This record gives sequence, structure tokens and C-alpha cells, in this order.
Amino acid sequence: MTIGLTGGIGSGKSTVAKVLESMGYPVFYSDQVAKELMASDQGLQTEITSHFGENAFENGKLNRAYLAEIIFSNPADKTILNQLIHPRVRASFAAFAQFSDSKLVFNEAAIIFETGAYSNFDKTILVTAPVEMRIDRVMKRDNCSREDVQNRMDNQWSDDRKTPLSDFVIKNGDADAVLYQIELIVEALLDHSTSS
Ligand code: ATP
Repeated sequence: MTIGLTGGIGSGKSTVAKVLESMGYPVFYSDQVAKELMASDQGLQTEITSHFGENAFENGKLNRAYLAEIIFSNPADKTILNQLIHPRVRASFAAFAQFSDSKLVFNEAAIIFETGAYSNFDKTILVTAPVEMRIDRVMKRDNCSREDVQNRMDNQWSDDRKTPLSDFVIKNGDADAVLYQIELIVEALLDHSTSS
């Protein structure tokens, strides 16, 4: 069974993913794999260069600042970049899941609802936390400004929009019993995987 694990910036999805790993479940980190592919997949590099120009890479390394500037000012370019990267990440996850002998295989990704990728998973888990708490956590974690976090948040859907599309929701506020919620969801998923 494949499970999409998502949540807005600073919600705590990576923290939940680490707990799942410590329980012995394989977790595929989409954003990390996307970065690795941009650094190593020559077909992808060629396509990025042919659309965004030679400046997209500098000494063989992805020129993040250059690309960020382009896609920030032009949403159509962002869509194109995603269309180049996402199918490759999906294929990589499919192989990861296929070669795993675990009943449950998780895919941690920031924007599975926004991209429509959620429909590729058997189940989805959304990690939520109050917006102010998420901003505080990310400002501390990344040592960045409130405005930086807010800008990144503005590109993502609200929890209210994602919740009805999610099979499970984890509340990750400071006083929430997160481990207990994760255990209950894993039990439900295992029940479901043996009954289907
Ligand atoms: P991003 O989308 O930016 O990658 P994320 O959803 O993966 O964010 P995390 O990196 O897991 O979020 O968490 C954000 C920060 O909040 C981290 O520094 C993490 O240690 C902290 N954090 C997560 N959950 C809790 C919690 N329940 N209590 C206190 N701190 C937490």
C-alpha cells in the first residue's frame, strides 16, 4: 500500500516521516529525490537547459537562484519545471515501492494535493498545525524571516482545503499526542492492507 504523507510548510511532515522510519517503514522523500535527479539525471538537465537556458546550470550544478527568480515571476514556467521533474520523481517512487517488501510504503511530499499527485496513492495523510505555530517553527528551523515563510505558505493550499481530500489527518500542535495518532493510523492502514 502506498501512502502520501503531506502537510504545509512547517506542519511537521518530515518529523512524522522520521517517526515512521524509526518504526521500520520505508519513506521516500520526494523533494530530496527531485534535488538528486536535477543534479544527476542528464535527460532532465538537458530538458531544463533547453527550456530555461544555459544559465540554469553553473559548473554542472543547478543554479537555484536563477531558476527561482524565473519561476517566481512566471507561474507558467513553474508549471513547466514541475512537468519536467514530477514524472521522473513518480517513476522513482514507483520503483522504490516495487522493490520494498514492506506492507506500507510512505511518500513524503509537500504538495500532493496542489499537483493532483494524491490520486496516485492508495491513502493520504495530512499533517496539520496552527499557522502561527508553523511560521514560528520554520523561522527558528531555517533562521529566516516571517515574510519568507509567508511567501512559501502562500504557494500552498490551506489545511481547510486539503483536509476533505485526506484519508487521515494528524494534528501536530505542541500539546497534541502525535505518536499516539501515528500509531492509530498505522494500525488502520495495516488492517486495511490485509483486508484488501
Ligand atoms: P517543510 O515543508 O518546510 O519541509 P515540514 O512539514 O517537513 O516542513 P518539519 O521540518 O518536520 O516540518 O518541522 C518544522 C520544525 O518544527 C522542525 O524544526 C521540527 O523539529 C519542529 N517540530 C515539528 N513537530 C513539532 C512538535 N510537535 N513540537 C515541537 N516542534 C516540532
